[in-house]
Amino acid sequence: MKEVLKLVFVLFIVSCTSVKGPNQPTFGIVIHGGAGTILKENMTPEMEHAYENKLAEAISVGHKILKEGGSSQEAVEKTIHVMENSPLFNSGKGAVLTAEESIALDASFMNGNTLDAGAVAGVKHIKNPISAAIRVMKNSPHVMLAGEGADYFAANQGLDTVPESYFITENRLNDLRRVKKRESDQKVSINLIEEQYFKNQRIGTVGCVALDLQGNLSAGTSTGGMTNKKWGRIGDAPIIGAGTYANNASCGVSATGWGEFFIRSVVAHDIAALVEYSGLTINEASKRVMKKVKDLGGDGGVVVLDTKGNVAMEFNTPGMYRAHMDSDGNLEVKIYRDE
Ligand code: ASP
Repeated sequence: MKEVLKLVFVLFIVSCTSVKGPNQPTFGIVIHGGAGTILKENMTPEMEHAYENKLAEAISVGHKILKEGGSSQEAVEKTIHVMENSPLFNSGKGAVLTAEESIALDASFMNGNTLDAGAVAGVKHIKNPISAAIRVMKNSPHVMLAGEGADYFAANQGLDTVPESYFITENRLNDLRRVKKRESDQKVSINLIEEQYFKNQRIGTVGCVALDLQGNLSAGTSTGGMTNKKWGRIGDAPIIGAGTYANNASCGVSATGWGEFFIRSVVAHDIAALVEYSGLTINEASKRVMKKVKDLGGDGGVVVLDTKGNVAMEFNTPGMYRAHMDSDGNLEVKIYRDE
């Protein structure tokens, strides 16, 4: 009898220590690598594995930082570096090209604890634009810097710089030539812009939202924008409230999709506002806002995390490269809608 009581006591202690109470600190991380018409029939098993492995590698970097007590800011920055350094995604190396066959990278970051934020748009020489966004937040009196000034500022901050050629890949040059050919064939550029989106010439923006053990959320997004972009076009990714938002009072959001619609719908802030002011769950809020984007004619998706570690990965496209890892290390990596 004594032995049984002892066993019950031990089991009670184990259950108390292994099951997280409602107020026990937790952490989590969620990422995306772009949304669009990503269909299984257009993928080879090799490509699938390449994406899945890179997403798993990236999220594991951030997860390790969080597990060891590091900040959500560091987790977001280092996780995004892995994807920016991979030519698989439309950010950093392998980003899509402008109409001039050049590079113009956009990125933004927001700290959900302080509501500090930073962004860069149209940079050409900073190897990891997400770090430039963080430096703008930390070391400048501004929120957003663009063009040469942003490159100059980031280089002065000691960030790694590279020649434009570092970012440019053969695949992206071919994409650009194909899009340009269609444009000259059709001579109707507004229709072409729509068509370009449906033909996935911008898929691969990357983003990350993390929650650290201190209970702080951070979100970041990094992209090359859209193929054949002209006139200094800037999308939603570097715009705080459209492509990125984080607030400990609600949630952190990183978006990907047709930037013009995401700007007009102020997607990231809209989701956070629904959570904060209307008490919606992050799932309800994301669904509602992505429907709004769809009704306007736009497509894309979001990844969202709240301070309890709840996650939402919502998109209105056939696929979104995405991954989530909770504090127990449970990893989920997905590409298509029906997974
Ligand atoms: N939102 C990005 C842009 O419009 C592209 C994307 O995420 O697919 O620049």
